[in-house]
Amino acid sequence: AIACDGIVKVFGSGTDALTILRDASFVVRHQEFVSILGSSGSGKSTLFRFIAGLLKPTSGHIKILGREVEGPRDDVTLMFQNPTLFPWMSVLDNVLFPISYRFGRPTREQQAYARDLIATVGLAGKEKFSPSQLSGGMQQRVALARSLVRHPRIILLDEPFSALDEMLRENLAIDVHRILSKAECTVVLVTHSISEAVLLSDRVLILAGAPASITDVVAVDLPRPRTVATLDHPAYAD
Ligand code: ATP
Ligand code: MG
Repeated sequence: AIACDGIVKVFGSGTDALTILRDASFVVRHQEFVSILGSSGSGKSTLFRFIAGLLKPTSGHIKILGREVEGPRDDVTLMFQNPTLFPWMSVLDNVLFPISYRFGRPTREQQAYARDLIATVGLAGKEKFSPSQLSGGMQQRVALARSLVRHPRIILLDEPFSALDEMLRENLAIDVHRILSKAECTVVLVTHSISEAVLLSDRVLILAGAPASITDVVAVDLPRPRTVATLDHPAYAD
């Protein structure tokens, strides 16, 4: 679904030039769940900006579903490292925002779908709450529902759980895996947690090399069948 070929990024020029990615090439297959690990500053968020069409690499090609990326596309969504909700809007209006800001008032179907998503992320009944009435983990769930409201085919998650404590992280990560599998998305997750990557992914890509210079992408194929996201996991005990 995503094909990156020979991605190079140089920020600045002359003596200030900073090479971030050097010849990064990899493929993410349709409906695969892939994690990307790499040290801080290795270029993970930059890579996501390329895939999301928000920034252009210095050279190299990125194809999504067979088409060269030329800008943001409706079927690709990026959940930023610190997703923020609009504090003055209800949970429901936050989830509907990607629709309302572009197309105006959401249709009945779109509103119903947003409510479904809110229930899917475990927040049924909280549609009218304001973000300040929710915990950090709940706010992340709202942000996830918002990322899904336009039915993306590909979802890019940039350390979505990094602000949460260990316990919450694991529960949420497993929920997210279940939700995204159900939504039949292709998922790329950037995380600093090796255990999270191994727990959730079909494959792990590692951005290796000195910080801010060379990057090789090493693919680690994880064995199947995976024992992830079973409903009897302690995370689901009430
Ligand atoms: P972290 O794990 O801390 O989020 P990251 O792997 O996501 O790190 P990036 O945000 O992609 O790293 O940044 C990679 C490098 O590129 C950093 O050294 C950063 O300072 C540099 N960089 C990113 N954007 C720009 C820019 N617009 N101009 C110049 N340098 C930039
Ligand atoms: Mg980053």
